[in-house]
This record gives sequence, structure tokens and C-alpha cells, in this order.
Amino acid sequence: MEVFKRLKETRHEQVVFFRDPNAGLRAIVAVHSTVLGPAIGGVRMSEYADEDAAIEDALILSRALTYKAACAGVNLGGGHTVVVGDPRKHRTEALFRSLGRFIDSLNGRYIAAEGVGTTVEDMDYIRMETKYVVGIPSSKGGSGDPSPVCAFGVFRGLEACEIFLSGGDDITGLHVAVQGAGRVGSRIVDMLVARGATATIADPDPEAVARVTAKHPVSVVAPDEIYDVACDVFSPCAMGGILNDDTIPRLRCKVVAGSANNQLAEERHGADLHRRGILYAPDYIINSGGLINVTEEIPGYDRERAMRKAAGIRDVLLTVLNSARDNAIPTYEAADRFAEERIERVGRVRRSYLAS
Ligand code: NAD
Repeated sequence: MEVFKRLKETRHEQVVFFRDPNAGLRAIVAVHSTVLGPAIGGVRMSEYADEDAAIEDALILSRALTYKAACAGVNLGGGHTVVVGDPRKHRTEALFRSLGRFIDSLNGRYIAAEGVGTTVEDMDYIRMETKYVVGIPSSKGGSGDPSPVCAFGVFRGLEACEIFLSGGDDITGLHVAVQGAGRVGSRIVDMLVARGATATIADPDPEAVARVTAKHPVSVVAPDEIYDVACDVFSPCAMGGILNDDTIPRLRCKVVAGSANNQLAEERHGADLHRRGILYAPDYIINSGGLINVTEEIPGYDRERAMRKAAGIRDVLLTVLNSARDNAIPTYEAADRFAEERIERVGRVRRSYLAS
């Protein structure tokens, strides 16, 4: 990879490589943008085919965080860490403490959070070496599990879609097909049922399914059948890349609104949904409750304040949906524009000098 050429294309500010042979650490921290504030983003631990793949992952993940933070209305930019290694074999206290010390050397330009392949315990080790980390367990004064706030944000997003399509937020009788009955999906079902909606769920884990069916009279289908369910809303709450050439033609819904990250296999799939008249709630807006939740650790965590902020996802999403309609563009494109405009506008405000 020609690194500087690629950084120019992705408009990254900084990429830092950290190596500590004593701790077995090889890490890449990508800081995409600090225009709005320090770059926040997860720590992903994974094996990669080669170094280019690891760098590319850090670049893509950090850029996505810039857009997510901008739309969430928080004063943060986007960053991400990639730790090269197998989390099942190479996860040690020394490794994460070493990473913490390196993160500290960035002096607050990057704030770490839990990501794929890392845990709250790992964040705890990072915290022993730097204050620039969020997502600490609630038992230690942190924000704890973000899923309730994320699920509430998705629910508010669902209301936004309903308001956009029908003018009101009454979801009584709405039928939602939920892919993944995990921490977020199961809570969305709780909220749907409490508001008089119905749900069909799919999850390969029979225990996850049983936990939901023990509480609610929902329908259950096999994981691969969830795309074919005739419903009002398809809510992907399991994994990314599920809106693709194979699945989109099978969808029988008016709306796609769920918590999974990177739902579109490629951007053109957002255009495909648009052409088919399916309203797509951009993933990084509707699932930003998780980010909002950890961000609330910075001033001192308060769950009620986090929930109040996550409630605002409804208005942000409505603004983006209206803008997509007014400009006759797909919703994912309207979301990108919304983020870029905030970064540009606020960035201009912050150009003037203030004595500190
Ligand atoms: P989770 O691991 O608790 O639940 C995911 C569920 O999906 C599991 O029960 C799993 O068995 C199921 N699943 C796996 N493959 C499936 C398949 N093919 N079909 C149907 N179900 C399948 O995860 P979560 O915390 O509920 O997060 C769900 C999604 O939302 C993830 O993509 C995550 O990245 C995203 N997300 C979560 C948060 C959060 O705060 N938890 C925040 C932002 C984004």
C-alpha cells in the first residue's frame, strides 16, 4: 500500500504504528478527524492476512466513526485502533497496558473504547495506563453495557421512519422482523411488544430465541428465512453486510431499521434499496446510542442523560430522511452529507483564535 496516497484518498489526519515486543503488541491507531474534538473509536483485535489489510481496516473503521460522531451531535471525531493478533490466544494484561501507554502518548487526540475482539476488562487494563479510554464497567463508575441505550436509539429511529412514512409515531400493529435476538435485538422486541407491535425473530442461538419467546408471543423463523418475512420493518441486529445482491430482492418490507454496523455490503446497495422504494435508516445514525452512551462517561456517567441524548436520534434521522426526499438521493448519501456539513460548519467556527 502507498500509505500517504491512501491517507489522501480517505482524508486521514494521522496513522500511528505501535510496537512493543515485550508485550507482543503490534497496533495501528488511525485518527481520521479531530475537527469536532478528540477522535473516539474502538479497539479491534484480529488476525489479518497481511499488514495492508490491517491498515485498511483501521482506515475504514476510523472514517466511519467520524461520520457517526458527527451525526450523533457529540463533540468528537473518528479514530480506531487495530491490534494485530488472535484475541483467543494473544490477549494479555501486558499487551493492553502497553497499548494504554502508547494511547496516552497521543495526549488525548484519540479515546479508546471496546471493539470487536476486545472486552471491558481489556479497557480496564488500558485505563490503568491512560485516562483516554471509555466503556468501563458500571461497577467501576463507567457506563457499562451500552445495549439498552443502543436499543432505545434504534426504537426512536423506528419511530422516525413511521413519522416519515405516515405522519405519526403510532406503531401499534406494526410487524417487525428482527434478525438477531441478542442484547440489542431482544430489547427492541421488548419495546415493540410494549407498544402494541408484533415481531418475528430469527437467531441461530436457541437460548437467545428461548429468552424472547418466554416473555413475548413472537413468531420465530430459521435464520436464513428472515429476509423473506412479509413485514413492515426488517430490523438487522446481528451482523454487517446483510443488505446485498442476494438478500435485497428477497425483502418484503417498507423499512430497514436496525442496530447492526455496516449493513450495506457496498454503497450501491443503498441506492438499490432507494430504487425499490424501501426506506433505509442509515446504520451509523440509528445505532449511535452505543456511542452516545460511552461518550457520556467523559463528563461523568449518567444513564438518564444518555437516554435523553439517545432520544434525539429520532429528530436527526427525520432530518436526514427529509433531506434525502427533498434532494431525491438515497438515505445513506443524505446521512453522509449531513455529517460532512456539520464537520464543515463547526470546523469553520473553530478556526478563530481564543486565548486559553
Ligand atoms: P449480541 O452478540 O448480543 O447479539 C447478536 C445476536 O445475533 C446473537 O444472539 C447471535 O446469535 C445472533 N446472530 C448471529 N448470526 C445470526 C444470523 N445469521 N441470523 C440471526 N441472528 C444471528 O450483539 P448485540 O450487542 O445485540 O449487537 C447486535 C448488532 O448491533 C451487532 O452488529 C453490533 O455490532 C451492533 N451494535 C451494537 C451496539 C451495542 O450497544 N450493543 C452498538 C452499536 C452497534
